[in-house]
Amino acid sequence: MKSPWLQLDTVAVHAGREDLAELGVHALPIDLSSTNPLPDIEAGGLSYESMATGGTPTEGGAVYARLWNPTVARFETALAELEHAEAAVAFGSGMAAMTAAILATIAESGKRHVVAVRPLYGGTDHLLSTGLLGTETTYCTADEVAAAVRPETGLIVLETPANPTLELVDITAVVQAAQGVPVLVDNTFATPVLQNPLDFGASMVLHSATKYLGGHGDVVAGVIACGNETAAALRRVRAVTGGLLHPLGAYLLHRGLTTLPIRVRTQQEGARRIAAWLERHPSVAEVHYPGLAEDPKGLLGKQMRGPGAMIAVELLGGYEQALAVTSGVNLFTHAVSLGGVDSLIQHPAALTHRPVASEAKPTESLVRLSIGLEAPEDLMTDLDQALRTHRPVATRELQAQ
Ligand code: PLP
Repeated sequence: MKSPWLQLDTVAVHAGREDLAELGVHALPIDLSSTNPLPDIEAGGLSYESMATGGTPTEGGAVYARLWNPTVARFETALAELEHAEAAVAFGSGMAAMTAAILATIAESGKRHVVAVRPLYGGTDHLLSTGLLGTETTYCTADEVAAAVRPETGLIVLETPANPTLELVDITAVVQAAQGVPVLVDNTFATPVLQNPLDFGASMVLHSATKYLGGHGDVVAGVIACGNETAAALRRVRAVTGGLLHPLGAYLLHRGLTTLPIRVRTQQEGARRIAAWLERHPSVAEVHYPGLAEDPKGLLGKQMRGPGAMIAVELLGGYEQALAVTSGVNLFTHAVSLGGVDSLIQHPAALTHRPVASEAKPTESLVRLSIGLEAPEDLMTDLDQALRTHRPVATRELQAQ
């Protein structure tokens, strides 16, 4: 497809479906084969060779599903278009995608040093801090990237908006500071509806597709959008380490892409209202939501087309109040993950960011909200009763006394 004049909403509905009429079908086909009949030894072997080294199937076909699956490839084509990328490579989880990105960049360059801009999702922070993949990591702020880069730096990792504090990072500035080192941007919170990091010079865009791309809380998946060369390196790692996404997951993700723009925008409208309301709530110390905080570089509107639907809230009353609110809500589900059609609440310091070093851990009073598609009024009523019923001693009024 790739028509420059098609808008995002149209691409979301039509990408990766160009050959369906030719196939005589209207819905996306699913191929669950774990193995494929071979035309002959020679052709099968050549195709195997092509895929095991990062290429695509040749005349010998897909051979074996760890190397290639057409349902997954369809989803990859669609996601690549949405992210303005040449290609995309899908994995069994966001962390499998991150692992492949690290291994692929190390394997290509032999450079084992990673620069990681904090805050990051706790799992990513932890993967890097363990050194499990043979990397050494320097954690820093976006302003410190230039100083942190060394001759042996192979990868720079950042999230914007960051999990869980919703801080925005200037991608263009980090790419400049990177001095040619590939920059991976985790775009999970923004989605391609609100932000396309490749347009600002990033080399790879990663999604925990488990979140907004899936959108219904029933798929665990990851995907990286990038250039063809990087995609080949990622596919090579995926073929060898076995991180391919299951085709049923790919089907659900591809189907879900059609409603991604409408879901993200509607969830965002709800979040905007809820964030503004929470800012005035007497049990709330601070609300972290893009657009509420200072944005000196004007990233909102330039780099990011909207603030999104994630909100982080510092509660007056600290951990005690967080315990009360997370168990006091009725409409919100107290659960990790995010980006689905239903609203979730969770405590990052105890859960998603539990393995993060103490100096980078979110505060004990922070809860994270993922706003779904429910009526914002109902969500506010639910939050209000949870915040008020369990109101601790340290409310804003008492502190002011
Ligand atoms: N990146 C971000 C921003 C996340 O929030 C998560 C998971 O919560 C991940 C990556 C990891 O993705 P997954 O849980 O699909 O492995």
